[in-house]
Amino acid sequence: MLAILLGGKAMGKKQTLLGDCELCYRTNVEITIHHLTPKELGGTFLPTAKLCLPCHKQIHAIYTNEELATRMNTIERLRDDDTIKKFVRWIQKQPSTKLISVTKSKERRQKKR
Ligand SMILES: [Zn+2]
Ligand SMILES: [Zn+2]
Repeated sequence: MLAILLGGKAMGKKQTLLGDCELCYRTNVEITIHHLTPKELGGTFLPTAKLCLPCHKQIHAIYTNEELATRMNTIERLRDDDTIKKFVRWIQKQPSTKLISVTKSKERRQKKR
């Protein structure tokens, strides 16, 4: 199941690019930009990290914005976290082409035309 976005207006601010994840080091995966300090907490102009979708979702599933801003605001600290390490060890065994469904996608419902 591939959703192909052909220009036009995207409903969400989700943009897809391929690259290397800074957390699990898998290459040629779908990359998203993670604000190491959440934007809500003033991180708009602070460093970001390129993370694959599963890593990104995982981080936000484990940590609140406050924890990210205070304790996990560098990629090194994230890499060094035991929960993350376990996750990374697992994700590295997954093929990069496999889409891991973490949540049921709400985006689907907006596809009207
Ligand atoms: Zn990753
Ligand atoms: Zn993020």
